[in-house]
Amino acid sequence: MAVATLTLDLAALAANWRALDRMSASGVQTAAVVKADGYGLGIEVVARCLAKAGARRFFVAAAEEGQRAREALGAGPQICVLSGHMAGDAGLIRDCDLTSMLNSLDQVTRHLESLPGHGFGIQLDTGMNRLGMELAEWEAVAPFVLEAGPDLLMSHLACADEPHHPMNAHQLANFHAMTDGTGVARSLSATGGILLGPAFHFDLTRPGIGLYGGNPFKAAHPVVALSLPVIQTRRVSIGQTVGYSATWTATRPSLIATVQGGYADGILRSLSGRATLWAGDVPCPVVGRVSMDMITVDVTDLPHMPQTLDLIGPHQSLDHLAEVAGTIGYEILTRLAARLDRHLIGTA
Ligand SMILES: *Cc1c(COP(=O)(O)O)cnc(C)c1O
Repeated sequence: MAVATLTLDLAALAANWRALDRMSASGVQTAAVVKADGYGLGIEVVARCLAKAGARRFFVAAAEEGQRAREALGAGPQICVLSGHMAGDAGLIRDCDLTSMLNSLDQVTRHLESLPGHGFGIQLDTGMNRLGMELAEWEAVAPFVLEAGPDLLMSHLACADEPHHPMNAHQLANFHAMTDGTGVARSLSATGGILLGPAFHFDLTRPGIGLYGGNPFKAAHPVVALSLPVIQTRRVSIGQTVGYSATWTATRPSLIATVQGGYADGILRSLSGRATLWAGDVPCPVVGRVSMDMITVDVTDLPHMPQTLDLIGPHQSLDHLAEVAGTIGYEILTRLAARLDRHLIGTA
């Protein structure tokens, strides 16, 4: 085994979707966000698993991702594109039966002119200032746009992972002001918004990270595990250094393991000298720099040498690793490299 092993637990993925689905009232649809290659885990396998669990509506970032999702899912489930309808997208939107979440009057015009009668949704900006029509623009065009028959009005929360942040109530009020009385289905919440409670659920929720086992869904089942094979071990005496730039110096006679897996696998270089790998229940500190393909680990205290060491596993969650790296679980997942040896366990 020459590459690191990424284990993806499909039973956990499906259980997380069902758990998030149960958190909203009956009648609220729970979608699944599978953008960025299914948060780095493989859009085909993730989308099929979530469809089996019960998801009927999927969100992707771009039409090209929508095409992959459609090929994986076949006809039936609805696939929504968050970037809306970009120039040149009409063919894919039509052929793959994608639903554009239009974010400006320009996009509405492009869509209605190139694909009249083809379903769409509308994105509204309620305060994040990233995507969607703002209040003034929406007020001007709403009668005309609503006449064209959008199937969803959606917005996105900027601070949903901080339950007491005043932005949440502010955006909720804006969303009501922009959508009350329209009679169109509405969606405001991703994972964080689901946890804020029923006032934020409207007709449809759009969880992403919680499905994949990440914060802020603390009760999530872990979906990924990452273990790295030991290539070589060596004894290092006091005063010797390990790795690029000689950043670590042995202060005792040490046993160093070199494991396969580095920043080219998505194991961030900022973990240099900070992360811990686990041999079963025994922590083994990373020493020196994370290189492109390898990491060096102090295994002096191990009674015997295992074949692999765990980077994400029972003793170190995705979010704990992210915290050590100074980032978020989303970034750890979406950087996981294609070359990892990917194993699927469990079923939906
Ligand atoms: C990424 C995204 C989601 C999913 O967010 P999570 O925090 O991963 O649950 C939902 N809606 C929109 C508009 C997004 O961009």
